Amino acid sequence: MIADHYDLDSMSRLNAAVIEEIKSRAEGLFNSDADALPQYINELIDTVEQQQKQTHEQDLFAAAIAIYFNHAFKHLCGMRKLRNSELYSFLRVMNHLPVLESSPFYTQTLDILTRHFRKDPKIVKLFDQLQMMNLFIELEYVEGAYELETALTPQIKSNELHIYTLYQLCRFRLLKSSNHLEQRMDLVLNLIHQVYQTEGPESTIFLMLNWLRSLHWMKHSLYYKALLFNLLERVRNEASLNSAYVAYELFDLDNRLVDPEAKYELYLHLIGYPASILNSRQLRALHFFAGNYLSSNKEMFRESILSFKSSNYYLHKCWERLVGISKYLRTHSGTANFKISISYVEQKLLSLSHYTSMRNNCYVENLQASFDQIQELYQHVGELSLTDELTGLKNRRYQQNNLYQLAAIAARHQTSVCFAMMDIDFFKNVNDQYGHAAGDSVLKQLADILRDFRKSDVVIRYGGEEFLLVLFDTLLSDAEKLMQSMKDKIATTTFLYNDHKIHISVSIGLTCECFSSHNSDIELEEFIEHSDIALYEAKKSGRNSICIYHPPNENLA
Ligand code: GH3
Ligand code: MG
Ligand code: MG
Repeated sequence: MIADHYDLDSMSRLNAAVIEEIKSRAEGLFNSDADALPQYINELIDTVEQQQKQTHEQDLFAAAIAIYFNHAFKHLCGMRKLRNSELYSFLRVMNHLPVLESSPFYTQTLDILTRHFRKDPKIVKLFDQLQMMNLFIELEYVEGAYELETALTPQIKSNELHIYTLYQLCRFRLLKSSNHLEQRMDLVLNLIHQVYQTEGPESTIFLMLNWLRSLHWMKHSLYYKALLFNLLERVRNEASLNSAYVAYELFDLDNRLVDPEAKYELYLHLIGYPASILNSRQLRALHFFAGNYLSSNKEMFRESILSFKSSNYYLHKCWERLVGISKYLRTHSGTANFKISISYVEQKLLSLSHYTSMRNNCYVENLQASFDQIQELYQHVGELSLTDELTGLKNRRYQQNNLYQLAAIAARHQTSVCFAMMDIDFFKNVNDQYGHAAGDSVLKQLADILRDFRKSDVVIRYGGEEFLLVLFDTLLSDAEKLMQSMKDKIATTTFLYNDHKIHISVSIGLTCECFSSHNSDIELEEFIEHSDIALYEAKKSGRNSICIYHPPNENLA
């Protein structure tokens, strides 16, 4: 037997003698005479009331009920299950009433009914009337439901258990709890007792859960949650109607009682059930919750979209079902009843439409937030892809993708642009003498110097120890002065690596160019090539020097 997760006895402030009495009464539910049960429960209520008067504790009743049911459930779960209880499979239908002809349960339900009541063909008609009564209750068309109850009562026989149970459950829902407390209790206790005798523990648990759910005030109590979690532990491996019922009830509790993380676990548990156990409204709510929950998690964006999609599908099923209900009313109820009940259906349609627009807003907000996030990431990735990892300067990809835009602007304004190709002299020696890491460090320190020189210019790490500087709106004479002071600064800087003091020099090839507006992207490659040619000259002339590019025909002249 599975141990209780929550120890209800010690959670409650009920005294030990009262707890013992509650438990013995819970066992009495199955052992005593049905007629004696209401009296039995009333006595129990008196006992708890007495303690409440003494202690002024508000939730003693909730605690007492939880202990009562917990004990009863423990007893029922310890019993051997009845194999293939037909009532239990019939009760599955409860979640899908009215079973419309278009529903996948239609033939299944008729099957169960005719198999059981073959001798009585009136049974299907009876079932339809009961469905209608149940529908009127759901639509809160109380007068219509009472009218049907009066018509049905003489036809219902307690030995036809399927029909009888459905009928009694409808009546139970119809009796308003505050006005008909005693009547309700008599009804439910009798029904439970009878079903327990003939149909075993599972149907009994199902009926008790229905009873519990009717105690609306329990829903806000920690005891209710504790009771349901204990029961879920006992039945969770069954993938049965009861375990789905309990798990969904927990999922449906207020977030203060069951936090979203626990709800997500319940969601995962619930969607593993055969689809026929949960109805479209429940599935819609489950998937919508998951969509929202997952969208707050960056890594689960894809899953959140899938959940939203599923919730959308079930939303559609809910609309379809309301249309089905409207058709059902048209074909199965008299004109007067149809006229009245259709206005209740309209209310349902309106609230579903309200829900739909809320859901869509929420969905769009989530999408918007995710879109903003994606855009931010995209920008970040874009920047990363244009940046050299070692030095943080722009890389060749930047030159290929972005520089031509600047060239086009320069062409439009007819400003001159200087290109300076810079290469470290004998850099190989630095690596050879101090190691590759020292070389890396020198490259980083040099990048800092270049970056600081003129923030408006573009500095690209062109190759290993080669840098391309693009100086916009600059005259050759100014560029030459600038390069001269940069070259001198580099030559006089001491680059530090561990305890080593490293000195380097650079050679620079410089060219000053003007873009034509129609060919600027082709010219860009050309001008860079010019600076490279000038660099080669600078190297040839002995290094640590600057050479200015001259076009070949100028050289000839
Ligand atoms: P020169 O004056 O002719 O330019 O001589 P050099 O030694 O600088 O030129 P060479 O092309 O022979 O060698 C370039 C060296 O730069 C070789 C290579 O290992 C080094 N180098 C290129 N990229 C990196 C880098 O990212 N890190 C380090 N540590 N070294 C690099
Ligand atoms: Mg070099
Ligand atoms: Mg080189």
